[in-house]
Amino acid sequence: MPTALEKLLGEIPGEEFRRLVETRRDLHRHPELAFEETRTAGIAARRLADAGWATREGVGKTGVTADGIFESATTSGSSQTGRILLRADMDALPLTEETQTAYTSTVPGKMHACGHDGHVAIALSLAERLAGKTEANRLRFLFQPAEEGAGGAEACAADGVLEGVATAFGLHLWNQLPLGTVGVNRGALMAAVDEFSIEVTGPGGHGASPHETFDTILAAARIVDALQSIVAREISPLDAAVVTVGSIQGGSSFNIIPSQVRLTGTARSFTEAVGHALPKKIERVIAGTAQAAGVSAKLNYRRLNRATVNNPAMAELVIETAGRLLGPENVDSEIRTLGGEDMSVFLDRVPGCFFFVGSAPADRHRPHHSPRFDIDERALAIGVRLLEEVALEAARKI
Ligand SMILES: [Zn+2]
Ligand SMILES: [Zn+2]
Repeated sequence: MPTALEKLLGEIPGEEFRRLVETRRDLHRHPELAFEETRTAGIAARRLADAGWATREGVGKTGVTADGIFESATTSGSSQTGRILLRADMDALPLTEETQTAYTSTVPGKMHACGHDGHVAIALSLAERLAGKTEANRLRFLFQPAEEGAGGAEACAADGVLEGVATAFGLHLWNQLPLGTVGVNRGALMAAVDEFSIEVTGPGGHGASPHETFDTILAAARIVDALQSIVAREISPLDAAVVTVGSIQGGSSFNIIPSQVRLTGTARSFTEAVGHALPKKIERVIAGTAQAAGVSAKLNYRRLNRATVNNPAMAELVIETAGRLLGPENVDSEIRTLGGEDMSVFLDRVPGCFFFVGSAPADRHRPHHSPRFDIDERALAIGVRLLEEVALEAARKI
């Protein structure tokens, strides 16, 4: 008896799987950073147009959309109930790849270290599978630029990709899950991502005469320490949040008390109530700590991504579909991560679901955003079949 995983992999014919892998490897060799994805977008647009999809290029600067407008479809397939958006992000990361494979990045300082090359390959393969089908007339593929913090989803939303859209789905290849498993959540899947910097300013002075000035280094150290009490003492233990200081810069010599120290960090949260409260709490803690130390501290706070929150009914559709394809025991329906995603831009405005497709290579530790990132490419085939079934189910039910 083949396992559910073997059966599912068998549903992608050898020739299609080879093309899927070839596409991913070609994109992997030629990574493009945020809003520079012109080669990737060109490949997508060409293949989509060849398959009969109505394409629009330059969406949100370098994105591509493809709407099903197939004549063979009946009118019921193109009813007025709204399109189903299937989103694949396209951008690479500013990293130099350290793995040695046949498909290693050819561009120093650029690498597909998050798996977005795989997302593009999956979506293209699926668009070709579904071309001409009745249900395809309900679909809009989006090949989105600049997911990694540069605002690609926002640019696409501003460019009208959600016009006429009833629901949105997207997947992420996920190395924290083994091959053949899926991760999803009926609510918040990924966290809101905030970025902050703190400028600590004092008079400066001689290292031998601390009493004649106020010490910005000591104040910065106290601020780092005091910030840790926010999550521990001011956020409900039943909520999740993170406040991390990621960098400290200050001083130029062993015998000088510097006049400036700069801290940067990130805060993460799942609910809007916590996300709204965090900057105010951080502001209060740093102002009070700085005052006690005799220096001043100025906070710059920016909310980058909102939490990625799934609609319960759409999540249920994904959970049921994944359970049918891979076995319910292989679906983690309560997964959450404090990483962020700009799929949140779409899920804020239309109901939908974002989910993880396990892609961990069996023998190696290859975390996302690492210069040694790689995937088990069989996850590409799982992604195609799962997204296909999700899209077809959604077209039938929504
Ligand atoms: Zn990433
Ligand atoms: Zn990613």
